[in-house]
Amino acid sequence: MAFLPSIIALVLILARAIAELWLSRLNQRHVRAHANQVPLAFREMIDNTTYRRSVDYTLAKSRFGEAVTLFDVVLLIALLFSGVLPWTFEKFTATFGASVLAMASFLFAAGVVASVVSLPFAWYAQFKLEDRFGFNTTTLKTWIVDRFKGLLVALSLGFPLLVLVLKLIEWTGSYWWIWAAAVVIVFQLLLMLIAPAVIMPLFNKFTPLPEGSLRERLFALARRTDFPTRSIEVMDGSKRSRHSNAFFTGFGRLRKIVLFDTLTTQLAEPELESVLAHEIGHYKKRHVVKLLGVSIFGVFIGFAAVAWLARQEWLYREFGFAYHAGFAAANLVPAMLLFALLAGTISFWFSPLVHLWSRRFEYEADAFARATMDDAQPLIQALRKLTEKNLSNLTPHPLFSGFYYSHPTLLERERALQRTLLAK
Ligand SMILES: [Zn+2]
Repeated sequence: MAFLPSIIALVLILARAIAELWLSRLNQRHVRAHANQVPLAFREMIDNTTYRRSVDYTLAKSRFGEAVTLFDVVLLIALLFSGVLPWTFEKFTATFGASVLAMASFLFAAGVVASVVSLPFAWYAQFKLEDRFGFNTTTLKTWIVDRFKGLLVALSLGFPLLVLVLKLIEWTGSYWWIWAAAVVIVFQLLLMLIAPAVIMPLFNKFTPLPEGSLRERLFALARRTDFPTRSIEVMDGSKRSRHSNAFFTGFGRLRKIVLFDTLTTQLAEPELESVLAHEIGHYKKRHVVKLLGVSIFGVFIGFAAVAWLARQEWLYREFGFAYHAGFAAANLVPAMLLFALLAGTISFWFSPLVHLWSRRFEYEADAFARATMDDAQPLIQALRKLTEKNLSNLTPHPLFSGFYYSHPTLLERERALQRTLLAK
């Protein structure tokens, strides 16, 4: 049975990479096949030049994605099979000891190194790719400051959580993973509560939507749909990008509706109202609670997997780690590293299911918006404009969109909206 874990890990890594590259190529071919003229369904909403640009944008993003995939595969294989992980871990414990604080520092440092390695790609995506298609508005200074703020947030919130989770291993023994999962979930809920007030303002400016017809219209919508909200705010999304969005955040009294400034300039008032109605639809149909339920389930599965990995002596040996039984933080760290590196190769295959589910929510929110507005046209207009402004891919391959898309395509959404119109 020698080498079996290595072979399984290698197969998992390669299978995901091959699937990703294959789907990407399939999609590119499909997009190119429709590139010469605007498909019939979109002739009245998009001109030839813009359509051509959306094709180029899709292809450029797709090629960039392939480069990232290839880099990740090489890095992952190097990390797992070169022996660098156990070597670094041993050096670290020899120097700093195996206390909970030392182990938390080791894991945190590993996370920092991982994000530093991906920085060149993030930089390229923002300042080359997005810039070439006129979306980037971030200055290099903002981009660098953002990274430091992110690190600061991770240090002040993530690091203490890490210490607590590792402490729980020593405090609670074999059921540590249940305690750890529970603590992480409580932490997530607290984060959702404080993020709008404490974290998001670190990165963006939020200003109340100014007095006027739009504000009246949106508050009237919130009242009509019995959606308790105290404030509707505009976020300076244009500080970083010309892409647009809208969302709501926080619970109860702290809830607020946020519109990107880019959205308020791109859409007319009834269209903005329909977008907000769609967002309220997500709340009314309890999508937020359902998604939260799934993420809670995911946290438990994740910790259960780490606890299981930590009992597999053969796995430790195979990847070069010394194995010690017993509930000390240092004994669990290799299992956590292996989980962090390999979990994605398995969860990848579940993403189509998650996306299928998420697309159902989008249809429901669209139907809610249509019913609330008593008209499908404003939402259809809004979706068309947003698709055009964001240069979204109008002709994804069905397998590609089925696998990756959290939202139905424009055509699918329009058809569903028309159907509910006829069914009425
Ligand atoms: Zn939605």
